[in-house]
Amino acid sequence: MTSNASKTTTKQKNIVLLGGGHSHAILLRSLADKPLPNVNFSLITENRDTPYSGMLPGHIAGFYTHDECHINLEKLTNFAGAKLYIDEVINLDLENNKVISTHLPEIEFDILSIDIGSTPATITVPGAKEYAIPAKPVSILLREWDKFCREIIHYSPPIRIAIVGGGAGGVELALAMRAKLNNLNLHENQEIEIHLFHRDQELMPSYHLFMRHLLTKVLLQQGIKLNLKETVCKIEKLEKLHLNCESGLTWEGDRIFWVTQASAPQWLKTTGVKTDKNGFILVNEQLQSLSHPHIFATGDIATMVNYPRSKAGVFAVRQGKPLFANLRRYVLGKALKPYIPQAKYLSLIGTGDGKAIANRGNFTLPPSRLLWLWKDCLDRRFMQQFK
Ligand SMILES: Cc1cc2nc3c(=O)[nH]c(=O)nc-3n(C[C@H](O)[C@H](O)[C@H](O)COP(=O)(O)OP(=O)(O)OC[C@H]3O[C@@H](n4cnc5c(N)ncnc54)[C@H](O)[C@@H]3O)c2cc1C
Repeated sequence: MTSNASKTTTKQKNIVLLGGGHSHAILLRSLADKPLPNVNFSLITENRDTPYSGMLPGHIAGFYTHDECHINLEKLTNFAGAKLYIDEVINLDLENNKVISTHLPEIEFDILSIDIGSTPATITVPGAKEYAIPAKPVSILLREWDKFCREIIHYSPPIRIAIVGGGAGGVELALAMRAKLNNLNLHENQEIEIHLFHRDQELMPSYHLFMRHLLTKVLLQQGIKLNLKETVCKIEKLEKLHLNCESGLTWEGDRIFWVTQASAPQWLKTTGVKTDKNGFILVNEQLQSLSHPHIFATGDIATMVNYPRSKAGVFAVRQGKPLFANLRRYVLGKALKPYIPQAKYLSLIGTGDGKAIANRGNFTLPPSRLLWLWKDCLDRRFMQQFK
């Protein structure tokens, strides 16, 4: 009997990864070890490399080179057998499952995973968009910081920097900048003041009291001027930059860095994907959108509806593996597995002077060299997996 061998052609699925954030870096690393047959993975992101948040303050301080703290997405996608598109995504067409970006043709997907991070909210403060340097995108922050450090020599004293936002990002940025400026060997009359503005009475409100007190002490010891209970309401540019607070306090200086509360891009709100009141994508324990099951989201841009956590790189990193596992299971038609983020997590914060503070829940260890060496070792080990 002759049999007409029936050829079964399996339809290839397209998984598009939007944003080269921490979770997608981990996902791509896992994909390299465990390829998924019949699935095309594509990453679309703005830059060829992406910073590792744990080492970012250390890079600003001058302790790490660019390459030491950036993941090379070109090499990583290559290694994982995924395509890389460099462009800024500006919208989603969810009727036709397409990603719309600035320059490239639309990219079709069967499954979409979003890990685009967040940016500091500035919209409501007049002048902030024009004259302040936002902490995100990080590429712009690093470019502006580098430029400032090179040009300082030409500035007329008093030289002043303002950092707006006293969360963990603002505090780390202040300490990192102080460390870098201390090592620039400037003249005495070129001493640079750093002023931190924060609307609440206490810095880093989401952290334990003892940790907050320790960090406040370190900031003061390092000569960083704290302006607490000050809400910045306007920025202008005259000869220098002018910053005005609701209390009537005014400040004049050379650079303003903006590290306020994380916000989501406006275009996400128009796509129809369900978000929380701040515009972050609402996801379930499977990291799946509440409104669109074929869309997954992780990192800062996602809010786990039953397990809200602060916007920190540590969560984006931890979501990478469960995201990969659930994308696999989704493609293979298997039941997805829940992921419950830890309520308490280890936080190691560098103080810019070769030391670090450790905190986990109610437990805090004061600044020590040993903690910095530990942090350095953990961060380098994390980066090693991408080399
Ligand atoms: C100064 C500072 C210090 C910090 N220090 C720490 C720290 O020590 N520890 C810690 O845990 N957290 C820290 N954070 C917070 C941390 O940076 C974020 O929580 C973390 O980066 C979030 O990771 P993510 O994967 O969600 O996104 P990200 O790491 O922000 O990555 C998002 C990626 O998506 C790309 N992207 C964004 N929008 C688009 C678009 N429209 N189209 C295409 N691509 C896009 C970006 O280019 C980027 O590559 C710090 C933040 C700041 C500002």
